[in-house]
Amino acid sequence: MNLADSELVGGILDSHGYTVTREIADADIVLLNTCAIRNNAEQRIHGRLGYIRGFKKRKPEIVVGILGCMGERLRARFLDQALVDIVIGPDEYRRLPLLVERAFAGEKGIAVRLSRVEDYDDITPLRIDGITAWISVMRGCDKFCTFCVVPFTRGRERSRQLGSIVREVETLAARGFKEVTLLGQNVNSYHDGEYDFADLMRHVARVDRSLRVRFTTSHPQDVSQKLLETVAEEENLCRHIHLPVQSGSDRILGLMNRTYSVDHYLQLVDRIRRTIPGVSVSTDIISGFPTEAQHDHQLTIQLLREVRFDGAYTFKYSPRQGTRAWEFPDDVPEDEKGSRVSEITGLQHEISLAVNGSLVGTLQRILVEGPSKKSDQEYMGRTDTNKTVVFPRMDEPSGAYVDILIERVNSATLFGRRAEALSERREVGVA
Ligand code: SAH
Ligand code: SF4
Repeated sequence: MNLADSELVGGILDSHGYTVTREIADADIVLLNTCAIRNNAEQRIHGRLGYIRGFKKRKPEIVVGILGCMGERLRARFLDQALVDIVIGPDEYRRLPLLVERAFAGEKGIAVRLSRVEDYDDITPLRIDGITAWISVMRGCDKFCTFCVVPFTRGRERSRQLGSIVREVETLAARGFKEVTLLGQNVNSYHDGEYDFADLMRHVARVDRSLRVRFTTSHPQDVSQKLLETVAEEENLCRHIHLPVQSGSDRILGLMNRTYSVDHYLQLVDRIRRTIPGVSVSTDIISGFPTEAQHDHQLTIQLLREVRFDGAYTFKYSPRQGTRAWEFPDDVPEDEKGSRVSEITGLQHEISLAVNGSLVGTLQRILVEGPSKKSDQEYMGRTDTNKTVVFPRMDEPSGAYVDILIERVNSATLFGRRAEALSERREVGVA
């Protein structure tokens, strides 16, 4: 979501005559888009500011701005640092050009009002040509999970218009993008007049059948059967659902205000798997929430064994000021949180390995994204179920669809080779 927001900010500044440089030494303005979801996200920003301080010493006229949720949360506290000139929250990016201009004249500026209506629907994000694009279809969140800072830093929930999202997707398809991910904190609450999220997905799917469509995130409380059927019916809607469960203990889910039970969640996963054959399901888990006992933790372990997720992101609980859970005692010791997270990730590692192992010998259609991270002799792409596939370098450009025969796996990646290459080899062999 921050990536999408940075592209919005890029669009706003671009229309005011600024250009992007990737070299910090060349920059006149340095903007840090920040996340406040957990303490360690904020610590990284403090570290980064230390790095930027060195540049400002050498070039004092550069303007340094803090964007996003951490700016919204800490507000003027940033301006106490000589280093920071601008603080701007997620709903005030339109004011950035003005604040930048004033900062060049030596005046610090802050804009952190949240809005009930700002959706930046008319702003064209500045995107570098590529294969995949992020599109924010809604902003904010009204769920108020007790651990979560998002409703406070991103404000009330609001949806963009379906027509404008579809036009954005048309433009991206015409530019050669091959995949879009529709973003919202809880896409189940998307609405534009009569249209719900399933309608939006169907409209976006029909823009261009060679364009894959993903989405994140749905809240387990209100995933509609209509959405699941739409994903099953429209071939370019990807068969992957990210469905954060957070805990396997009903008592903890209650304290988190997640508004569903473990039983509801299990039935939902079952319904997802029956409606969308071959779907992958991933999740988020928070470990060490206030009062979480060994017993609650074991219920989470049991849930993992029962669901057998394709993947899971596990986080240590991080108290956030202003949230309801901030009032609860943060009573699970840090090292206990650590060992619970290790137990969860260790188990999930085994499960992912087994789930991926069942794909050895299958053909997977993947969208080629480019060279793999580890070697330029290898390429990577993803299945529609969001699994990364690595295979020997090929001549097709990024953005092509190819069929890969899966030969081996680990818990994070599938490895294989092109099915066409295999059959050509066999034919040569026969001749
Ligand atoms: N809107 C999404 C979640 C967005 S935040 C949803 O409800 O599914 C992404 C993840 O960060 C959450 O799913 C949760 O697992 C984690 N998270 C949020 N607040 C946290 C906190 N205070 N401490 C630890 N993890 C947290
Ligand atoms: Fe945070 Fe809950 Fe909203 Fe997700 S649904 S952003 S966890 S308040």
